[in-house]
Amino acid sequence: MIVVKVGGSEGIDLDAVCSDIAQLAQGGQELVLVHGGSHRTNVVAEKMGHPPEFVQSVSGFTSRRTDKETLKIFEMVYCGEVNKGIVERLQAQGINAVGLSGLDGRLLEGRRKAAIKIIQNGRRRVLRDDYTGTVEKVNVGLLRLLLGAGYLPVVTPPAISTESEAINVDGDRAAAMIASSLGADQLIILSNVPGLLRDFPDESTLIKRIERSRTAEFMEHAQGRMRIKVLGATEALDQGVGQVIFGDARIENPVSAALAGQGTVIG
Ligand code: ADP
Repeated sequence: MIVVKVGGSEGIDLDAVCSDIAQLAQGGQELVLVHGGSHRTNVVAEKMGHPPEFVQSVSGFTSRRTDKETLKIFEMVYCGEVNKGIVERLQAQGINAVGLSGLDGRLLEGRRKAAIKIIQNGRRRVLRDDYTGTVEKVNVGLLRLLLGAGYLPVVTPPAISTESEAINVDGDRAAAMIASSLGADQLIILSNVPGLLRDFPDESTLIKRIERSRTAEFMEHAQGRMRIKVLGATEALDQGVGQVIFGDARIENPVSAALAGQGTVIG
């Protein structure tokens, strides 16, 4: 069993990701696909007159400011355009894909953060109208039901809160939770970089291998959004996933390349 997370940043080749996944699935590989949609959400939010905003938490992580209006746009893009676009591509290759958000069947459930502490212009601020949280529980039964019947689940945030509100959750950490809940052998995290770079954005400084016990020190190489990926990878490994690979989603056969060890192999 493998879980593949494909990001939503600019440059990602979804056609290449989907045809590779279709081939792997046809060859008998059991897998779940999780995706993002950040770049398209930014573009659509801009067009809708509600430009994206990003906030920095006091612990140093960057996340999308998700007020009610942003959440609507987020759902339009993630659950609409991107999720259905992936399902359509897989269906066209003969794969019976089923698109699901974390709301559907309470697939991804977590607590909504009542307040988030952020740093803005060097000062601390507390946001109370943000719809964000962290996945704590995966409806594994639903995934197994689909997998057992031959469907390929295509999963996207948002998740559902314990109070049944839609909440924006990090896709990488959600994928890590799905991978550990399913007891996956590997979690492949594909993005628009070759992997974790020692000296971003210099692609010749790719870190090829990270020992399981040394993930913490690699956190210092990651900036911005990459920090959450390293955190997600650490969580997946801590919860029993055999290996996490950061791979490049801009190349042909990106999943097979990652499985063959191209990228940053962790664990
Ligand atoms: P996705 O939407 O594909 O999940 P993100 O945009 O969230 O991807 O995260 C990937 C981004 O992280 C890269 O495009 C890059 O700008 C940034 N990044 C920061 N530090 C690093 C690093 N050390 N190595 C690789 N990427 C990094």
